[in-house]
Amino acid sequence: MSESSLSSKLFATAKQYIPGGVNSPVRAFRNVGGEPFFAQRAKGCRVWDVDGKDYIDYVGTWGPAILGHAPQAVVNAVQNAAKNGVSFGIPNPLEVDMAKLIVEWVPSIEKVRMCNSGTEATMSCVRLARGFTKRDRIVKFDGCYHGHVDALLVAAGSGALTHGQPDSAGIPASYAALTTVLPYNDVEALENCFATLGDEIAAIIVESYPANAGLILPQPGYLQKLRDITQKHGALLIFDEVMTGFRIGKGGVQEKENITPDLTALGKVIGGGLPVGAFGGRADIMDMLAPDGPVYQAGTLSGNPLAMAAGLAQLREMEKNQGWQRLEELGQTMETAVLETLKKTGRNYQWYRAGSMFCLFFTETPVKNLTDAKTSDLNAFRSFFHYCLNHGVYFAPSQFETGFISLAHTQDDLDRTAEVVQEALEQLG
Ligand SMILES: *Cc1c(COP(=O)(O)O)cnc(C)c1O
Repeated sequence: MSESSLSSKLFATAKQYIPGGVNSPVRAFRNVGGEPFFAQRAKGCRVWDVDGKDYIDYVGTWGPAILGHAPQAVVNAVQNAAKNGVSFGIPNPLEVDMAKLIVEWVPSIEKVRMCNSGTEATMSCVRLARGFTKRDRIVKFDGCYHGHVDALLVAAGSGALTHGQPDSAGIPASYAALTTVLPYNDVEALENCFATLGDEIAAIIVESYPANAGLILPQPGYLQKLRDITQKHGALLIFDEVMTGFRIGKGGVQEKENITPDLTALGKVIGGGLPVGAFGGRADIMDMLAPDGPVYQAGTLSGNPLAMAAGLAQLREMEKNQGWQRLEELGQTMETAVLETLKKTGRNYQWYRAGSMFCLFFTETPVKNLTDAKTSDLNAFRSFFHYCLNHGVYFAPSQFETGFISLAHTQDDLDRTAEVVQEALEQLG
């Protein structure tokens, strides 16, 4: 970004008024250096910055833009809904449509409540699990991100089974101590944890496919193991499908892998680009929520009509166009091109993909957990990222993120991307 660019000027002003110049930290490009560009508009798979340059976008507003940006069906739905009022704070019919759709599509969900972000969804799952089981301890996995919830912004302590440590200033150590952090894909660590703490554990929360440390896939049988061990010890299993829900398929990872969690957190794709989250699951657990039960949870804007209209339009459009099947095909096309390019350039980097989600780790170590992901060559990634950005291809500005293909990406877009990726790898030297 040149200093005279409009983006650069806006960023300088933003930094005077907004901490770090951004409203969410990863947007600041700290992991790759340089400055972010400012978006002017976005349509299909493209984003235009305020200086008029355009990019083929694989961030997709961090997951929600599964149809591409500003799809006509979603724009129309929002415009039509807005004519009838932008918020009611009174029950509205769109909330019922959305709840019905979620319960029909997501196998484990019998009842669902809407909220306004993925963070709210996971936070509410944790409270509900604690209220239902009357236990306090939560088990999470290193490298799984569940939003900025106090109980979940926790890092592993030193030593195998010590209590978690706050992963942010401002989180009391006594809160973090109620969270145990385990390495992902490690059955032995899981068994040891439940053998020692089993009767204290309210729930395991897990990203069904961890997608916030790059993309990490579960080893065969691992998710079933999580299901079995929680059942055995009277703990709940919470699937955080904020990223994977309606992205991996109609019923998320739980349908694909045939696992039935007790509670599921949703967000991102479900809102069609508007601020939305949802959580749902077994009716007997969900009925613990206020006003029927003792677990309090609420939201002034929850079930907002614009957000419901946008989400419903996006999900119905996906269904109508057999979207998930097409995304799998686009994913395969990209995969073939990337694997060929890696071969041509003599790089043994690790590539992972699930449908339209992908990650290229700049390491030769197979990645089964966060420790493996951290073996990535971050200097090489940085150089790759900036080369791609300068040549009109926008991947997430961090090695530890997942890429997203949308239905708006065409064969030409994927071909152009493959060219740029090859050049970017070649210039690494
Ligand atoms: C993005 C994300 C969240 C947090 O959602 P927000 O809407 O940003 O609060 C939680 N869990 C997962 C898996 C996510 O990817």
